[in-house]
Amino acid sequence: MMQQAKKKIGLKGLTLEELREYFSSIGQPQYRGDQVFNWIYNHLARDFGEMKNLSKELRTNLDETCSLNSLELITTQKSDSTGTQKFLFATTDNRKIESVLIPEKERNTLCISTQVGCPLDCKFCATGLMGYKRNLTAGEIVDQYLFTAREIGKEKITNIVYMGMGEPLLNFASTLSTISIFTNELNKGLSRNRITISTAGIPYKIKELADSGHRVKLAFSLHSAFDEIRNKIMPINRKYPLKENVDALKYYSKKTGTRITFEYVMLSGLNDRDDDIKALTKLCSSLPSKVNVIPFNSIKHMNPSGISAELEPTPMHEILRFVEKLRNNNITVMIRNTQGDDIAAACGQLAVKY
Ligand code: SAH
Repeated sequence: MMQQAKKKIGLKGLTLEELREYFSSIGQPQYRGDQVFNWIYNHLARDFGEMKNLSKELRTNLDETCSLNSLELITTQKSDSTGTQKFLFATTDNRKIESVLIPEKERNTLCISTQVGCPLDCKFCATGLMGYKRNLTAGEIVDQYLFTAREIGKEKITNIVYMGMGEPLLNFASTLSTISIFTNELNKGLSRNRITISTAGIPYKIKELADSGHRVKLAFSLHSAFDEIRNKIMPINRKYPLKENVDALKYYSKKTGTRITFEYVMLSGLNDRDDDIKALTKLCSSLPSKVNVIPFNSIKHMNPSGISAELEPTPMHEILRFVEKLRNNNITVMIRNTQGDDIAAACGQLAVKY
């Protein structure tokens, strides 16, 4: 019988505690876990050979039994107008995912994916239209950060947003591990208030995230303050209606002492009417929050059908009027810059054809 090659243990994506446990389990002192963590996340080491404070024997042993590879970088594309950069990766089972790096004056934000595709099927989102393949492992999620961090070198990634492909709260365990890695005090440069999880609304997971103690920022993809409209454009709302989500968001805000960001993609005639301003004002006034208004980015590259094909962006002058009225009602509102539209890297445009 042929001897099967033993599967290597992936060390990327293990939390510091898990790394310590791993080294204990192979008869090494726990602090080897801290050393390896430091090599992976601060020195961005690619292989065990670089880890000079480990003995040669241990390095060889790790090389044979463990792996540091989860993703392969396929291509990068850069937007000439904004400098936004899109990274296409392949997983070891040849699934494709994308991440987006958004350089701004005082920060570099990395937008990462948590799933291959997405099961939620939001009608305005290209990722939803490509369907769902599988959850990413914690290793595959942190690797998006490690690749891009190497790419920009000295500049450094300052902010991470979980707003790429997929619904982070439906890949809860891996998402939590990666938050724990990014916010660990041994990991220099990132802190919890520069990390944002974005969700379409899974109330019991929002509460679980609050109870996890990580206190990262939470963004909620609202898009309408009416269940009737949300049901149409976000099928998940039929399972978890607004009231349940708002209760969970209030719980989150209270428990973590953070303000909720409501994301609001402007869709002509659907959620930009005067009634929407009223409902949105009422909702926002009921908890510590702000609104992030997002111009609708085209998903025509997906050849959409049904309601997805009928969606139209609210014209910019109407967005400005909408925002002004909200501000007059004492609501804090930001308009999200569209970045990377020319390379299909803007919000909601990420999708990989199979
Ligand atoms: N599943 C999570 C994270 C991914 S979506 C969530 O739903 O929040 C990240 C953000 O991009 C969300 O606010 C989403 O609503 C927004 N988005 C999706 N499609 C968009 C589009 N076509 N134009 C602009 N924003 C879009």
